[in-house]
Parts: sequence; structure tokens; C-alpha cells
Amino acid sequence: LEDALHATRHQPAVTTDGFKVQVCANAEFVEEMGDIRDSGAAHVGLFRTEFLYMEDPAGTEDWLAESYTRAVKAIAPGHVTFRTLDIGGDKVDDQIGAEEEPNPFLGWRGIRVSLGRKQMFRRQLRALLRAAAHGPIGIMFPMVCDVGEVRAAKELLAECAQELSEEGYPPPKQVDIGAMIEIPSAALTADLIAAEVDFFSLGTNDLVQYTLAVDRLNERVADLYSPTHPAVLRLIGLTVEAARRAGIRVCICGEMAADVEVLPLLLGLGLDELSVSAGQISRVKHAIRRLNAAECAKIVEDCRHLGCPKMILERSRAIAQRLY
Ligand code: PEP
Ligand code: MG
Repeated sequence: LEDALHATRHQPAVTTDGFKVQVCANAEFVEEMGDIRDSGAAHVGLFRTEFLYMEDPAGTEDWLAESYTRAVKAIAPGHVTFRTLDIGGDKVDDQIGAEEEPNPFLGWRGIRVSLGRKQMFRRQLRALLRAAAHGPIGIMFPMVCDVGEVRAAKELLAECAQELSEEGYPPPKQVDIGAMIEIPSAALTADLIAAEVDFFSLGTNDLVQYTLAVDRLNERVADLYSPTHPAVLRLIGLTVEAARRAGIRVCICGEMAADVEVLPLLLGLGLDELSVSAGQISRVKHAIRRLNAAECAKIVEDCRHLGCPKMILERSRAIAQRLY
């Protein structure tokens, strides 16, 4: 089976009834780009920039631009969606002047840090725009909780673009702007945020944590961490619907996207773009090819009256089990 999966990895992922799904790769290091190209991924759907930052928190704009450029060149003409720095939470760093917080996951994290450290943020945005001269990119903001944060970040980005142009840098090819939807307030106001961006990216690792008040790292409550909780599925549904209405793309890049057992629910909710680690691409594509989108939509409909995450998972699993 492994050989069969591997052989078909570059073929598109289309369901038995012709619904096409784009499968992209999550990345953390520039060095992964070779494996990603070979994995069958269409694009990089999530590049977590924290890891490069940790290598050298005082790294210059030139160094960042050179590193991002290597990733962009490796994937072009496909696009690389960079997520701006998502430190805070479990990734605390002295360099930004963060203090210990009683509830770090509810504290100074993601876009909050970037908007509070403008010089650092500008350095990253300028480096990303410089890399964009070499291929299409996306820039998305993590931990967005209201549309004002997106507007503030876009203003800074526009200023950086203006400066770079005046300084004579070559113009970016294509830069799509996105918001991570990973806090319930963002999902509930997705219609307002959609007006400001070109795409959404559903960060379900955090969305599950914040919706259910279950720490994603706490073993003690791990059994309560349920991606199939109806509240989570409703928030995903609202996000997809708002994206459709606004005519923008929506991708899902949390771990949930690589879980073949819940794939029927995700397709049923209308998702047509997933981003998973490179090692999962061929498996996920294979599973999609065996699903029927109409049947997946029906499962979601049938689950609407169910309140129990386990029962919803069972329904989805029953479809998924036929995949192998
Ligand atoms: C998520 O929250 O689902 C996500 C993709 O981001 P991270 O796991 O880096 O928080
Ligand atoms: Mg997240």
C-alpha cells in the first residue's frame, strides 16, 4: 500500500464525484523544501516562521530575506504561505521582553506581540516582501481576535511596501494576505474579517483549545480535546460560509486536517484546501480520492442534531473505514 500511495502522490486529489481538494504542506524549516517538492504538495500552506526566528532572534532583515527567498525559490511557481511570528503561548522568548504570565495561552502571543514590537514586525514584513520578488507568497497573521488587528497589520505592510519601492527593491510578484482563524471570536466574526483578507487559514489546534477551554498541552484533560465537538464543527462551518460569501479561499492547517477519520466531516463542511506535514500528503490525497463529497455533506447534515463529539466521530469513522 505504501508503494501505491507513493506512486500517486503527484496526482490531484479529486473525490469520486469530482470535488477537487488542494493538499498543501506545513513547514518549519527552509531545509524541508526539497522533501516538500517531492511529497506531492501543491504549495506550502503554512510556514511557521518561529523556528527560523529562534535560530537567531537578533537576525538581520537581510538574513531573513535571504532565508525566505530560498524557500520561495524552491517552491515557485507554487506559493509559500508564511505565517508571521507566533511566539508567546508555549514558545516564550526573552528577546522580545516577554514576562512570565499566569496564562500564557491567553496572554501576549502571535499578532499581539508583533503589533507591540513594531520594529521587529517591520523587519519581518520587509524581509517577506523582498522574498516575494522571487515567487508568489501568502502572508498570514496568527491569533487574530478582531478585524482591527488585521487592519493594523495591513497598514504596516503597506508602509513597508512603499519604503521598499522607494529604496529601489524589485516589486513583489504576488502577495496574498490572510488571517488565521483559531480563536472563536475570529470564527464568529469571520464575515467582518473576510472583507480585509484574500484567504483564511483555520488553525484547529488552537481553535479546539480555545473553544472547549482545554489546554492543548495538558495530558490531564487530553480526553476532552475533541476536534469533533459540535461547537468546533459549527465554528469551522461559519468560517467556510463567510469565506464563500466573500469569495475568498479557506484552508485548514491544524493537525485535524491530517486525521483521515475526520476527513469526511471536513469535506462535508465544504473545505477544499488542506495543509498537512509533508509525510502525510500521499496518505491524505489517497483518502480524498476514495471519498464522495455528496456523501460527506450528508454525514455533516446527519450530525447536526448530535451533541456528543464521540458519536460524531463514530459517524465520520464509519465512512473513513471504507477507505483502506
Ligand atoms: C493551529 O493552531 O492549528 C496551528 C496550525 O498553529 P500552531 O499549531 O502553530 O499553533
Ligand atoms: Mg495556532
